Amino acid sequence: EGPLSPLMHKVLVKVCSTLLERQEELNSLDRACGDGDCGNTHAQAAKAIQQWLQNHKVPGCPGRLLLVLAGLVQEKMGGSSGALYSLFLTAAASHVTEGQSNAAAWASAMHAGTQAMRRYGGADPGDRTMLDALCPAVDELMKLVTAPPDAQMSVLQAAVQKAATGAEGTRLLQAKAGRASYIATDRVTLPDPGAMAVAAILGAIVETLEE
Ligand code: ADP
Ligand code: MG
Ligand code: MG
Repeated sequence: EGPLSPLMHKVLVKVCSTLLERQEELNSLDRACGDGDCGNTHAQAAKAIQQWLQNHKVPGCPGRLLLVLAGLVQEKMGGSSGALYSLFLTAAASHVTEGQSNAAAWASAMHAGTQAMRRYGGADPGDRTMLDALCPAVDELMKLVTAPPDAQMSVLQAAVQKAATGAEGTRLLQAKAGRASYIATDRVTLPDPGAMAVAAILGAIVETLEE
């Protein structure tokens, strides 16, 4: 265990409370296009993380923290999203180490996580999945690799906006991956729950960093 990272702790607390607040909304979006449990899977992940935070110190190395989170979601989240987030977090983990966890490293970690989700999940942007929020957000986040420090916050805020717009835009998409692909498009006019959850998570992270 390295030193406790108060900021990382705060971010996780905010992400968890946000997901718990959105549980019913995510379930009802998933009822329109899937099996109605997307809020529950995210709430299970949130509760597992909250419980873990009460009993452990957050590892000082962010990569190790991401591996812990990967294990928790793999074990406790369930659903497609549990497996997909576990892939994401595992791939992201190796990009942020104790010596290398600046904004550029986090951007690369998000990029690697998204690529792993694409590769192993087999979906692409436009298929009405989490990727429709994640991919545009990550494209924006990659600007952190070259952005000067005083421009970082506006990149983060723009990435949140891209995720929100991408998630809302899934209303218009025919699902090509996941359970929703078994439902005719004309019946779905609501956004994809997984994409909305991604936007909520990124929003919670950046809101905490703004404070
Ligand atoms: P399940 O569909 O197993 O009940 P959840 O309800 O927790 O799982 O999650 C559903 C969400 O997972 C969908 O709204 C979609 O955003 C996302 N999803 C499903 N399949 C994929 C995939 N192959 N790649 C990325 N995201 C996906
Ligand atoms: Mg579901
Ligand atoms: Mg399910």
